[in-house]
Amino acid sequence: MNDAVPEAAKAEQVRVAVYAHFARTGLAPSPAGLADRTGLPVAEVRAALEALHEHRDVVLDAADRDLILMAHPFASVPLGFSVMGARTLWWGGCAWDSFAVPHLLGEERDVLVATRCPACDAPHAWVVTRDGPPDGGQVAHFLTPVHRIWDDVVHACANQRLFCSTDCVHAWLGATGQTRGYLMDLGTLWRLARDWYAGRMEPGYTRRDPTSAAAYFAGVGLHGRFWGLDD
Ligand SMILES: [Zn+2]
Ligand SMILES: [Zn+2]
Repeated sequence: MNDAVPEAAKAEQVRVAVYAHFARTGLAPSPAGLADRTGLPVAEVRAALEALHEHRDVVLDAADRDLILMAHPFASVPLGFSVMGARTLWWGGCAWDSFAVPHLLGEERDVLVATRCPACDAPHAWVVTRDGPPDGGQVAHFLTPVHRIWDDVVHACANQRLFCSTDCVHAWLGATGQTRGYLMDLGTLWRLARDWYAGRMEPGYTRRDPTSAAAYFAGVGLHGRFWGLDD
């Protein structure tokens, strides 16, 4: 009967199952688990995962194609952040993704996001809710301009971090020999994360095109070419 289902519909079924599994368990599902969940043969699940990777809906490991590294904002590998709910623990992906997780999880009242400053190793933690940004004078630094993120999405996410202060950002840039990217306060990070992934848990999601993405970035208070906006 599955032959009657178009490939795109099967991919969407698998995508929704991937998100449901990450949300419920904090872990990436296996192709066999996705086959159980969707009723599709494992070979069709694998083909759907490749299609989803191609369309940037999930990120598969380069060597192990059965391993889902990311289904933004969820990740199966450590990228500097943990996100703790009442009963579930997630790898938080980057700063953006970690702050986005509570907005996709209606059953969690709030989550504890924890990380360490990349410059000085100081620990930082925030209770992140859907109601408003957490207090704190820390700053987020994003290294990779938005139009380059998908050149190497794991590297880009791994370099969207939270620091004690702008002094710590500059110390880290000096020590690693990298060029300054974009700095924002916690309020801007929270607003960026709030609706960016809206709808991703439900069937029928379509990714934002560059024009609507740019409008979203401008609407949350981001500026400049780093975000695909005019200077
Ligand atoms: Zn620091
Ligand atoms: Zn990320």
